[in-house]
Amino acid sequence: MLRRRTYIAEPKPLPPGGGRAVAPDELTECRRRLEREFAEAQFDLGGLAYEMAIRDHFRVDLLVRHAAKLQTLDAELGSIERLARMDEGGAAGTCPNCDALYPRGAAFCSQCAHPLMR
Ligand SMILES: [Zn+2]
Repeated sequence: MLRRRTYIAEPKPLPPGGGRAVAPDELTECRRRLEREFAEAQFDLGGLAYEMAIRDHFRVDLLVRHAAKLQTLDAELGSIERLARMDEGGAAGTCPNCDALYPRGAAFCSQCAHPLMR
């Protein structure tokens, strides 16, 4: 449900596979923001679990929902980190279908399997 997030403020020229080009500094910015969001979500989950524990009343649905949010952020961070490890030329773009980031040379989007090569 967080998939529609837009990582980049300004539209860029379209790379060959469609979608938008992503510069390395934008990746760094995006990564910092995700790391912050992840830390906050983790903190919230810990606080929530603590509150439930001292009341001896667990709302598993709430815990699961928070954990799912963490998992989503973790997956996004993982894909950003993969992209950040790639060549310095910023060889990356976003999927024209779901806006997920992808590395140069990717044939299909790792999120939605949309074909990226013509
Ligand atoms: Zn996609």
